[in-house]
Formats: sequence, structure tokens, C-alpha cells
Amino acid sequence: MDLFEYQGKQYFARFGIPVSPGDVADDVDTAVAVADRVGYPVVVKAQVQVGGRGKAGGIKLADDTESVRTHASNILGMDIRGHVVRRLWIERASDIEQEYYASFTLDRSAKKHLGMLSAQGGVEIEQVAETSPEAIAKLHIDPAEGLSENAAREWVQRAQLDPRATEGAVDILQKLYRCFVDGDCDLAEINPLILTPQGKVHALDAKVTLDDNAAFRHGEWEEFAGLTVRDPREELAHEKGLQYVGLDGTVGIIANGAGLAMSTCDVVNQVGGQPANFLDIGGGASAQVMANALEVINSDDKVKAIFINIFGGITRGEEVANGIVQALDQVALRAPIVIRLDGTNAEEGRAILAPHLSDRLRSKPTMLEAAREAVALASGGAAQ
Ligand code: GDP
Ligand code: MN
Repeated sequence: MDLFEYQGKQYFARFGIPVSPGDVADDVDTAVAVADRVGYPVVVKAQVQVGGRGKAGGIKLADDTESVRTHASNILGMDIRGHVVRRLWIERASDIEQEYYASFTLDRSAKKHLGMLSAQGGVEIEQVAETSPEAIAKLHIDPAEGLSENAAREWVQRAQLDPRATEGAVDILQKLYRCFVDGDCDLAEINPLILTPQGKVHALDAKVTLDDNAAFRHGEWEEFAGLTVRDPREELAHEKGLQYVGLDGTVGIIANGAGLAMSTCDVVNQVGGQPANFLDIGGGASAQVMANALEVINSDDKVKAIFINIFGGITRGEEVANGIVQALDQVALRAPIVIRLDGTNAEEGRAILAPHLSDRLRSKPTMLEAAREAVALASGGAAQ
């Protein structure tokens, strides 16, 4: 689950990470009231879960009540890269001398935590990584050992932060690491982490992704869940217990197993198509699961063709075939289906599908042929 900036800052505050005083506002009058309370100058910040809000005009400094009023009314309702602003965060403005970047994530291949620290913060870190990768000091941390003060200090020096920022940065990095570990984050990022002219270091932005698998030990996360705006397709998939991720393309994808689902997305891309989603119906998927999966895909207006890619292992071919036949009865599918069925009991499955094959339900023997057919259908034609 991704948090909004203000939620991330509230989460940071629990771990003692310094943030600016502020509050949320859903309308202009509240924004003014919050600004009057926290004291001028303030920053009016759009709360949307997308980066680059500053560049998009979603972050404005305001010196007085009138300019808070102007900026709040401009920013509320603004569309920032497809995200409509419904909420603002108003905080006391900070004087900035330098902007740094700090984050913790998991490096799965190294089986370690990965910290990244840079003296070139404020801008998008991908950009820094591309143009001057040496400006990002990386630190792999053994989860069993944690981050010691000495290691943090050595890291800060390696990143060449201003010496005046050393103590503050060492303190915040250790707290951010605790937040990442004890707070069960997949990502804990501060960009920018600032040094003020007064020599104080603190977090000006917060990007936090919570690890949903740890939700069972964090009853307090429920307050975040209600406010997170979910993709309606993902909402429906979640209700149905499906592993679904919404994407922007036109080829709906259903596969069994996460690996095959990812490969299916890749193959669709390779033959010139765009996946509309990732959907893994898992091993041993029943007919009902297949019907649910088709229902979720059918709820996506952009889908022009559906590619079902099943390699039977635990999942048996006839179960999948029955699921599709059942779903064709239950759901008025808008898009045609191309299926590739292989593996355990594939023959039996194909026999079940045979009487139902038509322009709306096609069967192809290989993954590549099925992908080509689905992509051709999605773009308005049909492959040979
Ligand atoms: P993002 O663009 O979505 O990453 O939003 P940020 O919260 O990181 O803000 C973008 C930029 O706005 C920062 O890098 C700062 O340069 C500027 N900014 C944000 N808050 C303040 C503030 O309190 N004072 C000043 N002077 N600039 C700020
Ligand atoms: Mn930022």
C-alpha cells in the first residue's frame, strides 16, 4: 500500500523523524485556517500518489492568507498526471540550503536491505542515477546486523553531504531505517531531505510503501487503507481474491503462476501489443476463479482482446476449460478470447472448448501464436 505524503510524514513522525508542522485540508477555507494556525510562510502541497508534483504546479509557497486562498483553489481539482487533487497538505515553509536524497528498499538479489543517499536530492533520483550514478552512495545492510551509528556516519561521509548536516543525517538515517524495518515498509524515501541555513536536517517530502503482507501486525494501518485511492479494477480483483495489477494496454491477460503471467506480459509486448493487466490465477485454479478473472478483465473498458495463457501443472486443463465455458455463460464478455492451453490434461481441456470455438473464442497451440492473435485482435485485425 502506497501512502500519501502527509500519511508518510505522520508515519515518519512516529519514528522520531523530524518533519514540518502542518495539517490536511480538503477545501480552501480549511487550508486558510490551517495556514493561519501553523504560521506563515507556508507550503501548499497537492496530495496525490505521483511524483513530480512540484514541476506540475502542485506545490506552492504562500506568504499570506490571500495567496493560500489562491493556491489552494488552483491546486484542488488539478489533474496531476491523471491524479485529481482532492486533498492538500499545508505545512510551515522551510528555508532550504541544500536538498539531499535518502531511501531504504529491499535488494532481493543481494538478500540485503539497500540504502541510497545522495547530496543531489530534490530532483528525480532516476535522473541522477542516469547522469551521475557516482553521486548516489549505496549501502547494503545485513538485516541481521542492522545499521550502526558508525556505519551511518561513514555512509554520510561517503555521500559527501555538507559537514554541518552530518549529525542530523546520521540520526535521521538510523530512524528512517527503524521506520523501514519495524514499520514494515517496502520503501521509505525522503526526497528532499534538507539542510536549513540554521544547520537543521529534516524531511520535506515522504514516500512510503507499506508491505501489505505485514498488515496483520499493524492494526493501525487501517486508517491509511480507507483513504488510499485504488484502481477500481484492482478493487474488484482484491474482493475476488485475485493477484491482479492494472496496466494501461488493451490486451487483458490471465495466466497461472506469477512467472508465466509476467512472461505473458513480455511476449505481448514483444509482438507489439500492450498488456492491460497482470493477472495470476494461481495453481489449482477452479472454474469459479477463471470466471472471476474474466469478470475483472471485462470491467476494464480498454481491453480489446483477452489472452488466457495456461500451462497446466496443478491447474488441470479441463478445470480451466470448464471455467471459461462457465464464464461465457455468466459474463457478457465484450472482448474476444484467445487461449493457449498446455500441460496437464490439455487435451481434455481443448476437447471441452472445441464445441464453443468461434470468432469470440479462439485456441492457439503456442504462447507466441496466441500472443500474436490477441494483439492483432486488440488492434482491430486478426492474424493468420
Ligand atoms: P515532489 O515534486 O512531488 O517530489 O514534491 P516535494 O515535496 O519533494 O517538493 C518539490 C520541491 O518543492 C522540493 O524539492 C523543494 O525544492 C520545494 N519545496 C517543498 N517544500 C518547500 C519548503 O518548505 N520551502 C521551500 N523553499 N521549498 C519547498
Ligand atoms: Mn519529492
